[in-house]
Amino acid sequence: MIARDTPSDAQPKTTTPPPTGLGQAPPAAAVDEANGVPGPSIVVRDLNAWYGARQAVAGVGLQIAPRQVTAIIGPSGCGKSTLIRCLNRMHEVTPTARAAGSVELNGVNIYGEGVDPVQVRRVVGMVFQKPNPFPMMTIFENVVAGLLLQGGALRRELEEIAEQALRQAALWDEVKDVWRKASGASLSGGQQQRLCIARTLAVRPEVILMDEPCSALDPIATYRIEELIGQLKRDFTIAIVTHNMQQASRVSDFTAFMLAEEDHIGRLVEFGPTSNIFTNPTERRTEDYITGRFG
Ligand code: ADP
Repeated sequence: MIARDTPSDAQPKTTTPPPTGLGQAPPAAAVDEANGVPGPSIVVRDLNAWYGARQAVAGVGLQIAPRQVTAIIGPSGCGKSTLIRCLNRMHEVTPTARAAGSVELNGVNIYGEGVDPVQVRRVVGMVFQKPNPFPMMTIFENVVAGLLLQGGALRRELEEIAEQALRQAALWDEVKDVWRKASGASLSGGQQQRLCIARTLAVRPEVILMDEPCSALDPIATYRIEELIGQLKRDFTIAIVTHNMQQASRVSDFTAFMLAEEDHIGRLVEFGPTSNIFTNPTERRTEDYITGRFG
């Protein structure tokens, strides 16, 4: 067990909590037993997901530990993206897609009655496989795009938020002379992905989901994103889907291995500390996968 719901001395984060309480660390904040770090956590129980009548994911239960990186690995088509998209209610945006089960964010089931999915996505941000900056917008406008939709902030406030997000995304030094004028599309692929990370950070999420964030990047750009993930986990709880096992072993603290067998429905095979999964897995199927016997 990596997180528990027992009372602790953990203080809620100092950021103003959103009105639903979704982003507010509960009094019984989950505490990572490994290092005693309090922070936002996700507990998944019996999660099932469908596209129309076809079930893609069944019976997944795991915990995304606070201020740690959790990797989701497994062969193509085993339901990794579907699972991660269920963690902030993005899955249901696909027509006919639906999910059932419980995903507790800081103790609140995001699939519970009355929970606003838009609010969930604000607290649990997402970075996608392909960097997708808005080409007609400047770097600055790209970073604050999510905030512009909310309205209300002054230009000076937006600039402060954008600078902070660009610094957190390790992009500031490269763009500080051009960020107000240059288009987001003028950046390299790796810079564009860090711009998209800055855009996610500008909304001030607590959890960041990353769906194969490096799969379109060269090795140097990949290295910079991995380095950035290591920095971001000081402040955020992170889950990352990757088909790259070396990447999972480099960046993550915990690993979930999924597999879709004969019935083509993705299930969780094994979940645990990354070092255990890669050096001493419990399941034969995990060992076969990580040693390259299939997938
Ligand atoms: P992975 O991320 O592990 O490659 P996915 O979650 O993308 O797996 O896909 C899991 C299963 O769901 C696959 O069989 C895939 O074909 C199916 N699937 C994914 N997206 C859709 C969709 N938009 N419509 C219908 N089926 C889908």
